[in-house]
Amino acid sequence: MILRLRPDIDPHHQQALLDDLQRWGFTVTTLTRGGQPVLAVNGQGMPADLVAEIVRYSGIEAIVTPSQPYRLAARASRPQGTIVRVGDVAIGGHEPVIIAGPCTVENREQLLRTAEAVREAGASVLRGGAFKPRTSPYSFQGLGQRGLELLWEARERTGLPIVTEVLDTEQVDLVAKYADILQIGSRNMMNFALLQKVAATGKPVLLKRGFAATIEEWLLAAEYLLAGGNDQVILCERGVRSFEPATRFMLDLNAVPLVRQLSHLPVIVDPSHGTGRRELVPPMSLAAIAAGAHGLLVEVHVEPDAALVDGRQSIDPATLTSIVRRVRALSELAQELVTA
Ligand code: PEP
Ligand code: MN
Repeated sequence: MILRLRPDIDPHHQQALLDDLQRWGFTVTTLTRGGQPVLAVNGQGMPADLVAEIVRYSGIEAIVTPSQPYRLAARASRPQGTIVRVGDVAIGGHEPVIIAGPCTVENREQLLRTAEAVREAGASVLRGGAFKPRTSPYSFQGLGQRGLELLWEARERTGLPIVTEVLDTEQVDLVAKYADILQIGSRNMMNFALLQKVAATGKPVLLKRGFAATIEEWLLAAEYLLAGGNDQVILCERGVRSFEPATRFMLDLNAVPLVRQLSHLPVIVDPSHGTGRRELVPPMSLAAIAAGAHGLLVEVHVEPDAALVDGRQSIDPATLTSIVRRVRALSELAQELVTA
């Protein structure tokens, strides 16, 4: 059962409600950072007389029981939507947020030059992998902690917050020291121990869709983060496996408007992994915004053809600049035309 609280609830009333629920033996998860405050009450259902009692508390806007298997992630739990905040950047509002950077941190010069170009292009968050999930154990696995240190330096220089992937529960504390947003990769979407540990850091999380995961499985993965008390969750559609070898994955843009209906969490799109081909990144970036995405995650490299990882899908800084400009223009139009 979800209690949607009024945004202007008196903090003393909220505490009294929480204390009473706990006294009655319920476990309560409180979500407050992303927007309307929400209490999730767990337990074996609530007797009608208690429900009647709760309804009398001031400050409760609605009591909802979402029909989907995910509850906290369901749109009904926070109908106005969730905003994820990282410094000055707000993800989930009207302004599309562009996250860009290399697939992998390769060396200091590559990262700092790319970071500078990302800022110049007008993107607002820097991405870069330090620990990489590679299909082959013989492929470059990333610079590890040294990569995190370089990301830190790039943030100092550009002011851009950074997002980087965490692969394993044992790395969570280390990566959380350096990153502003923790990325959970497609291959780890169902690593439930990792989801729980990442939730507990309280840091914003970028949750990629597993490339063979249904939308319901994806939202249940998000539910792990929310049930862990962390509502700073950004969903990222990055393409799913299909029969078609002409593109690396099939970018599922159906997921964008669908997830926006099913959930209150912001959803962004990764057209780089979703296509695997750099020439498809600009049109699919625009398509994602037209479909209602709250932002993009794009791989960019100062010398895409020399990239150690994912060069084929990496764009150069000039292309990023053009995408940022066109995304802004389209988003203004789309707000009038598409979501009307
Ligand atoms: C990445 O963002 O570089 C990455 C490995 O993505 P995914 O987990 O979507 O494959
Ligand atoms: Mn990549």
